[in-house]
Amino acid sequence: MANLAHWDEGGRPYGSSIAYANYPSRINDGIKDFSGNTNNDTAWSSASEKLPQWAAVVFRRPASVNRIAVYWGRVGDWATSRRFRVECWTQKGWKRVAALQRSEPERMTEAAFDPVTCEAVRLHQGVGNGPEATPDRMCVAELEAHGAFIHGPEVDHLRIRDALREEWEGNYREMRRPITREVLARIDRKARPKSLTGPIGRAEMEKARRNITSTQWAKSLSEKIIADANWWMEKDDGFIYDMIPPENPRAISPSYERGCPIHGGGRRCMRTNTALPYRWQCAEGGEWWYNGAKVRNPATGQLVEVRDDGDGWTSPPGFANPGTTYHFQSAWRYYVLSKLFFHPYEQTIPSDDAYTGGTAITQLAHAYAITGDERYAHKAGVMLNRLAEVYRFYNGTVDEQRPLTRGYLVQVSWEEWPIHDCLAAYDLIAEVMLRDRTLLDFFRSKGDCDYNGDGKVNFEDLRHNIHHNLFGYMCEWLHRAMSIQTGDYIVREGLVLAAVGAMLDNRELVEEAIDGPFGLATNLTNNTFRDGKWWYDSPGYSVGCITGMSLERMFSARQLNLLNDRRLRTREAVEFARNVDCDGRLPGIGDTGGGDSRIKVLNPFVPCRHEEFAHLHTGDRAYLARHLALSGGDVDRIRDRYADWMLLFHGEAGRDLTGATGGVALTPQAGGTVAGPDVAFGDAPGWGYIKDVSRAACEGTWSATWRIGNEDRTGIRLTMLGDRGREIITGRGEGYGFFGKSPLDAYVLARSPAKGETTVYVAVLEPFQGHPFIRSVEPLTVSGGVGAKVCVDGRTDYLFRKTEEVLACASEIDGRRVEFDAAFARITLHDSGKRELHLIQGSYLKFGEEVLQGPAIPRGRVEAVHLTDDSLTVSLSSGEGLAEGDLIVFRNPACICNSSAGVKTVERLDANRLKVGLSLSLNLSEGVVQSVEGDAFTSDTCMTKLKVCPGLFDGKAVYVNGVRRGVLKTATEGRFAFADPSAGAGLKAGDRFLVCDLDVGDEVEGMRSADLTLPQVCG
Ligand SMILES: [Zn+2]
Repeated sequence: MANLAHWDEGGRPYGSSIAYANYPSRINDGIKDFSGNTNNDTAWSSASEKLPQWAAVVFRRPASVNRIAVYWGRVGDWATSRRFRVECWTQKGWKRVAALQRSEPERMTEAAFDPVTCEAVRLHQGVGNGPEATPDRMCVAELEAHGAFIHGPEVDHLRIRDALREEWEGNYREMRRPITREVLARIDRKARPKSLTGPIGRAEMEKARRNITSTQWAKSLSEKIIADANWWMEKDDGFIYDMIPPENPRAISPSYERGCPIHGGGRRCMRTNTALPYRWQCAEGGEWWYNGAKVRNPATGQLVEVRDDGDGWTSPPGFANPGTTYHFQSAWRYYVLSKLFFHPYEQTIPSDDAYTGGTAITQLAHAYAITGDERYAHKAGVMLNRLAEVYRFYNGTVDEQRPLTRGYLVQVSWEEWPIHDCLAAYDLIAEVMLRDRTLLDFFRSKGDCDYNGDGKVNFEDLRHNIHHNLFGYMCEWLHRAMSIQTGDYIVREGLVLAAVGAMLDNRELVEEAIDGPFGLATNLTNNTFRDGKWWYDSPGYSVGCITGMSLERMFSARQLNLLNDRRLRTREAVEFARNVDCDGRLPGIGDTGGGDSRIKVLNPFVPCRHEEFAHLHTGDRAYLARHLALSGGDVDRIRDRYADWMLLFHGEAGRDLTGATGGVALTPQAGGTVAGPDVAFGDAPGWGYIKDVSRAACEGTWSATWRIGNEDRTGIRLTMLGDRGREIITGRGEGYGFFGKSPLDAYVLARSPAKGETTVYVAVLEPFQGHPFIRSVEPLTVSGGVGAKVCVDGRTDYLFRKTEEVLACASEIDGRRVEFDAAFARITLHDSGKRELHLIQGSYLKFGEEVLQGPAIPRGRVEAVHLTDDSLTVSLSSGEGLAEGDLIVFRNPACICNSSAGVKTVERLDANRLKVGLSLSLNLSEGVVQSVEGDAFTSDTCMTKLKVCPGLFDGKAVYVNGVRRGVLKTATEGRFAFADPSAGAGLKAGDRFLVCDLDVGDEVEGMRSADLTLPQVCG
């Protein structure tokens, strides 16, 4: 008997939800045989959520059905649902025809029943009845329905689709109802007595006006803002109103992962504009895509009609990725909304009759701030109030695999964009908007606008609509998302929630954002390392966590003074960003994040002094001084030309970086990546993102050169000394950007077989302009250490490093003996006869007759720790003391690694004791005690950095209410065991604990160096 559900029979598939790109089109595509686990080409998978799930197929014509067969997906084992029922859509809606239970996974489940006349079938799985391993998920490779079509009109599939949608919405809302109610109450408890408390206040408005009259960069920027805003001034209110649809913006691009149905690609390969309703043009082939479009099947040459009723069009065989669903209809709504309230993923086709400018709500609000012309505020008011009417009925996009964190407008991590843009705009225009009679009359003409339901229509309705219906539901999302996530976006969500709270003068929101269980204090203290690095491996996301957008959002809540809250590690994070951010070009492989590191130097509204801003951007005073010197004291002057020597390493022409190794015969690897010849590009993190691999065994010295642009331009050469068993690997890896689309950079890797505990790599990095200048690099024989001889024009450098625990290292230069006891030593012999001796952290360096004595190294121990001001009492046993600017290394054998910190202040207490203020926070992590079990306690506070770095807190001291309780023997995420069993006594659930970076008894060592220059040739 025929399978009536099959795609070829005209069956239309619908799923309750979608896990990423596992579209429902897989339910009836005929693919039920596959090897290994299912993927998005073979099975539909629901999201994992505490909701009923279903897979349904609507028939082309009514049918009599008497049997179904379901082929399950496979994730390790068969993903057989443990309990589900079979339902048929009849005149009276869904009718149950079978209920099944399966205790063991099986490939296929069949159910036979008395013939039912129906228009659709579905498998319905109740909450938590999925496969054992993933009870909240449903995963179906194929649903077959057997029987025969009967005579009758074509089935109205839209009616059944809408019923399914409504059912899902009902379930979803019901599940969220309690929390939604609570969040809305929080918003409603506070009206908004203050104004201009967002990113731009009165002072900034005045400053912008001054900037515009006195500087060119501000003038051109404001001209752009006004031009964008003026486009809207020519449109009537109804036009703007109609641009904001009541229907859901269901996809962020036609296909986020697979681009064009013919030409492939990813997001950003389709374009449209606001005047081309529901139409998309492929950026590659120029062909048009929309519901009703006729496109040519690239394999057969036949014309195919694109049908998209709002659920997307699924490409048939012959196209680039057959079976993929493309959302032309609903992605266009997303495009328009994003032009208005944030920014779209896809490109804009230039046209005068379309809005092609920057974020409309922002441009209008800024135009009002610049000019004081209330007509701009009015247009922004139309946009905001209309959005407030429909916002809560949206439910985000299919691009999010976890519907519980799904935004209203956007997929999960980006909802904070429109929230920020709306709050910043509303803050500026609220004064005008809430007394705008024309605005109220306009919305009254559109329908019921007694938003608060008190029987009257007045300005209080506008306020209620914006506060309750817009920001209330925005906060509902923030609240929901923050409680589930640990990614970098949780930081931005916390910052935006704080900004909403500050804008509405709502302390409850601010407290949740900062001190709540998922707030900024927890996240930035526990998920950021002591030097300001976010817990991800990726430097790009680490930088993205703090710079650019994050700072902008911190400024949004500027009266909260978040920048100075020590727990948030802002200073450290900015400094970390500065250290790895080479002017926005971060070293990275694969999806490491764009970094968003370009702080908006051009933004005239940045609400701090320019000098302060430059300081923030760079993190240190020397840099600020350079900025001021460079600009002649006027940072504004260089705002639009900001760039410097950091470009050297990661220059603009990133895709032109070519690496070449010298003197090594490389053998190309047949396919694959550095992760292995059988690991395809992009399949494994890290090494799986370096392809075009060549390898060579290389025990001698080798070098590699990278250049930016042509031979006259800048480059860097790496020369590495050889070692036994060394292997050199070259390849090309993705830089920043999107997988498959980002520029490829040239990589060289050096590997040595593990021998004992350490491997030594000796290399010289040589930045140059035009041509390299080092003539040679040779190894030196050093007992107790390693060394290299580097020859350049006019001089030779001999560089030494102690690597073994010996009293003295020895070597030889031209028959003269070298001896040293130091971490690093350098001897430079100039052709002129001048000689230089230099040592770091050591007692002496001897060269022939010459002796350089090292200064006494300050050594001692920590006597007391002062958490309140991040300072220590240190007693010194040797050396001449410590000074501001010194670097200290702290050692404690119980800890997995040393700590180091800069000295900020020094106060002498007596002959040997100092009070030393440190540059870093002593607070490693904070949490709440959940339970106490003998010598250990548990905590469910999020501490991701401990999870990714086991042992990080071992040997560290724990404080409760400022009192030291004892040292941790071992700490894993969730469980903390004291070394001293009695330390847990008296500890109780609910106590707030702090893990301290340093402890009494830690060894202290200050860093010291010495040098000596001798003008004559000796002997
Ligand atoms: Zn195309």
